[in-house]
Amino acid sequence: MNFRADLHCHSTCSDGSLTPQELIALAKQEGLQGLSITDHDTIEAYPAAFQFAKEQNIELIPGIEFSTQLDSISVHILAYSFDISHPAIHELIAKHKKRRHDRNLQMIDKLKKEGFDISFEELEKTAKGTVGRPHIAKLLVDKGYLADYQTAFHTYIGDGKRCYVAGVPLTIPETLDVIHAAHGFAVLAHPHLYKSKDFVLKILTAPFDGIECYYAEMPASQNGSWVKLAKEKNLMVTGGSDFHGAMKPLIKLGCSTVDETLFAPLLKHYHELL
Ligand code: AMP
Ligand code: ZN
Ligand code: FE
Ligand code: FE
Repeated sequence: MNFRADLHCHSTCSDGSLTPQELIALAKQEGLQGLSITDHDTIEAYPAAFQFAKEQNIELIPGIEFSTQLDSISVHILAYSFDISHPAIHELIAKHKKRRHDRNLQMIDKLKKEGFDISFEELEKTAKGTVGRPHIAKLLVDKGYLADYQTAFHTYIGDGKRCYVAGVPLTIPETLDVIHAAHGFAVLAHPHLYKSKDFVLKILTAPFDGIECYYAEMPASQNGSWVKLAKEKNLMVTGGSDFHGAMKPLIKLGCSTVDETLFAPLLKHYHELL
């Protein structure tokens, strides 16, 4: 069986619908051999996930997807194979917790003015770690205010929409500093989602270690050009599905993966940290 690892997925510790244990069991069922759980701004899934992965014979490496901003645009940075107990990582996670707490309060306030009554307490109950806009969208649908998740983003909480609040931004350089201090690799997530190649090049002036060149919703015709850019810049190539379970039902775990040659350096680096 060919080795396949999915390096981008979300659990109930952020906006995924499966627990870390269920995610690892699904990885096994889908025939994956490697995985990284990359929840938004939290590593709550770890270290317990390592035990689940061992039981299922899945090679698991630490991961997280950090939120940053550049020119008021949200930029996601994946970090891999870092020291999960490093204080710098925990400090950055704490900053995100505060940022999200304040921003969720502000978004709830704006939504109240639109006639939607959702409380901070019920929102906080929706995830074990990171609470964000997908949870707000789901609450608006579950409480019968909106017909579907997309409408919530399209009309109210999508970037720049009337109930959207960005929160105090964390920058790309400070995030990369933290990832590197914790001995990890920093990878630009889903580069095809940005408005232009020039904007991606601007992002990549920061000291990244890799680019996510394989991704569920990236047209396959684009993979080659991102791999080419990674090679030109001497960056590693990664890939993953960005599986969220029922939150994004069309995306299957393992629909986008890396092979052993791309996974092995990440695993080796992590093992050397232990
Ligand atoms: P947050 O981290 O709270 O800013 O929420 C960001 C997450 O919301 C992203 O990772 C996506 O999963 C989701 N999201 C952002 N924009 C949209 C959109 N227009 N439609 C659907 N989901 C979105
Ligand atoms: Zn997400
Ligand atoms: Fe993302
Ligand atoms: Fe993601």
